[in-house]
Amino acid sequence: MGTYKSISVSELLGNDRIVDDSLLVDIRSEIAYKHGYIPNAVSLPEPVEPEILLEIMKEHAKEKVIIYCSIGERSKTVVRELCENGIDAYNLTGGYHEWLLMKTGELCMDEKIQYARQMVLPELGETGQERLKKARVLVIGAGALGSIALTYLAAAGVGTIGIAEGDIIERSNLHRQILFDTDNVGNKKVYEAKSRLEKMNTFIHIEDYDTYVTPGNINDIIKNYDFVIDATDNIETKFLINDACVINKIPFCHAGVVAFEGQVMTWVPGEAPCYRCVFEDIPDGYIPNCAQAGIIGAMAGMIGCIQALEAIKYIASVGELLVGKIYHINGLNMQTRIIRVPRKNISCKVCGRKPVITNVSDNSVMYGRRNCMT
Ligand SMILES: [Zn+2]
Repeated sequence: MGTYKSISVSELLGNDRIVDDSLLVDIRSEIAYKHGYIPNAVSLPEPVEPEILLEIMKEHAKEKVIIYCSIGERSKTVVRELCENGIDAYNLTGGYHEWLLMKTGELCMDEKIQYARQMVLPELGETGQERLKKARVLVIGAGALGSIALTYLAAAGVGTIGIAEGDIIERSNLHRQILFDTDNVGNKKVYEAKSRLEKMNTFIHIEDYDTYVTPGNINDIIKNYDFVIDATDNIETKFLINDACVINKIPFCHAGVVAFEGQVMTWVPGEAPCYRCVFEDIPDGYIPNCAQAGIIGAMAGMIGCIQALEAIKYIASVGELLVGKIYHINGLNMQTRIIRVPRKNISCKVCGRKPVITNVSDNSVMYGRRNCMT
């Protein structure tokens, strides 16, 4: 059989770096091509002659080639043969059919079976499920909150999920970061999380960012997402995520967990107050994080679930978000409160009347450098 390289439709649609460097080649019949093709693809019906392909690649100044057929099967064989001829070729998994489905958000039969119990909900239905498929959600931090939020986003069928996380797995993480197990200790969280989630749901695509978010990289990481989940546990990063999302007008869900308490708040562009409207500035002095203050895994689990639910509600346009509200729960006595924050803080540095923070990369000093994720 031999091995072959492949690329998913999500990667293609997400403008992965490979795509920019590659020539897209349609190997279906000329008639099929005439009826419709992936934009920028050239038609080269089978049998594909390596010499002719190399000529076309040269013409387009491309060093790699992405091959697709109708469903991604015949193209596998072609890609193997091209690789044997020294051509840097990739197979487009699922082919033109998968591209059509992904482009329109249409669901295949297996997806309809997989999501049947949630699609039956009148609030969601097939339309809501298609919206989830087309959606792109970024989770910053693959720790305790991230493990849970990612799991439920993936299971629900969010089509493209980004994970930004620079940390490695330690044994002391395992009591709360339930995406990982003992065998994963010492490995990168982002890759273990990606591999676990891809096994859980083969219909979704995971984009990995093996890095902590910083004032220098956050704008680039968040820019292509519809919704961001802040699953970090240090105060500086929370302000950074808030400011970057507010400036870039990307909705996000903030959460924090310490010991037996948790809180959640969602922001959407418009008149909603942001995290900085409420908490104003990074406090001076000692702010304990999970490593110092302690944390119960089940609390992070509850809060991570709420974050996933906020993302799903936002994408499917159902229910009421925690916008202008802070949800708070004390797990020791199970008391919950919703604290209403009806309007913006006019002196908020990022969304008030006279914002002084207009680009996070200009203010890198104020976000510090602590990196612990929950
Ligand atoms: Zn604000």
